[in-house]
Amino acid sequence: MRYTKIIATLGPSSSEPAQLAALIDAGVDIFRLNFSHGTHEEHATRIGLVRAAASHARRSVAILQDLSGPKIRTGRLPDGRALPIAPGEHLDIRIGDGMGAPGVVYTTYAPLAEAVTRGNRLLLDDGHIELQVEAVADGVISTTVMSGRTLGQFKGINAPGLPLPPAGLTARDEIDLVFGLAQGVDLVALSFVQSPADIEAARRITARERRPDVPIIAKLERSEALQHLEAILRAADGVMVARGDLGLEIPLQLVPRVQRQILSRARALAVPSILATQVLESMRVETRPTRAEVSDATTAVRQGADAIMLSGETAAGAHPVLAVQTLDTILREAERPDEGADAGHEVVDHAAALSDAAFTLATRAGADAIVAVTRLGRTAQLLSARRPPAPIVAVTGDEVVARRLSRWWGTRACVMPIDGHVDDVAPRVLSALVENGLLKEGATVVLVNISLTLDNGVSNFLRVRRASR
Ligand code: PEP
Repeated sequence: MRYTKIIATLGPSSSEPAQLAALIDAGVDIFRLNFSHGTHEEHATRIGLVRAAASHARRSVAILQDLSGPKIRTGRLPDGRALPIAPGEHLDIRIGDGMGAPGVVYTTYAPLAEAVTRGNRLLLDDGHIELQVEAVADGVISTTVMSGRTLGQFKGINAPGLPLPPAGLTARDEIDLVFGLAQGVDLVALSFVQSPADIEAARRITARERRPDVPIIAKLERSEALQHLEAILRAADGVMVARGDLGLEIPLQLVPRVQRQILSRARALAVPSILATQVLESMRVETRPTRAEVSDATTAVRQGADAIMLSGETAAGAHPVLAVQTLDTILREAERPDEGADAGHEVVDHAAALSDAAFTLATRAGADAIVAVTRLGRTAQLLSARRPPAPIVAVTGDEVVARRLSRWWGTRACVMPIDGHVDDVAPRVLSALVENGLLKEGATVVLVNISLTLDNGVSNFLRVRRASR
């Protein structure tokens, strides 16, 4: 059995009955309908085909309706043909529903002209184009192209850091949601959620439409959502790390950290999580993923994602079924425990258990430090290998051991007498560490000793204490 679920986005590459059957056979658990594209008729046809294919395969396959949300987009272009642009050139963004032309594109989103000012950065087409705002007057945003070569029609506009737009659910989303609920979609995803209010707004509609139990998934892709992460996690029935827009709205290098935080908090609160976007991006064209993509999907599994989503890979890629088969193989392998995973604890089980317990205690107690009382350095070594969330202060009676401890990750050594029962050692050691500045007065400290034998009456202890003189 594979534990991590696969979500496949439907599109031109995955709409024929045979393709759907093959995707289900390859292991798709949920199909996603992206309401940023397509008409209601097209979605209704797809829903019917998915239901038929799943029933034929005798598989329970869910349908996720992904509402497009307040995505700001550029307007139409003559014959739908992309405009050539070049760095250094001038590009005007006008408010309205006009037809673009060389040097001019439109957007129907009027508040954009009120929100931006000279010096702001705008990202178009998933960040492939960067514009710098030079001036704003009479509904025209004058910009200089900083990077990019062509601009197609209906491309996304991101204005990083600008509080835009205010509400998560648009009038169009409401129409789409009512349609989706009538079609019997199983799950609904809200784009650009900013606060729990967006989820509550969607719930009012699902209640009104007599589908109050439809799970609502919050797509996390705006920095405002990250500021309200805990409240959103408590209000939603699931979250998606929507890395596409997230990587435009916040600096790209912060995305892995934010991904880790979201997946870990979601797991702590038992909220199902989805990791999305560019998971096997190269397989839109290639028949094999890159090493980095395999590693990324594996990391998501290790970080506790409940589901991994494919977007363009299955919607518009050249190898949709192969992409799902490849992801299935990667996930199964990622879920297998590493051989020798307990290499740091290989000697005896109680040592591994104590080291795990010290890690948990330090994490849950928000410890400022872990004090490893260590005769030969072994306790500090075991803890260091566990990569705890707080620095390790290793106290030892032996100067040579102290010097050797300098090579262990996160460890600082201090020499002092450590013999005796923990009830005597603890206050003495903590007071000395406060005295010489290695611990702050009042710090929360996990005090631990791990001995490989169980025969020494004063060893193998684990305490959490407040440090004081
Ligand atoms: C994303 O931005 O990563 C995402 C999943 O949303 P969409 O594909 O709707 O832009």
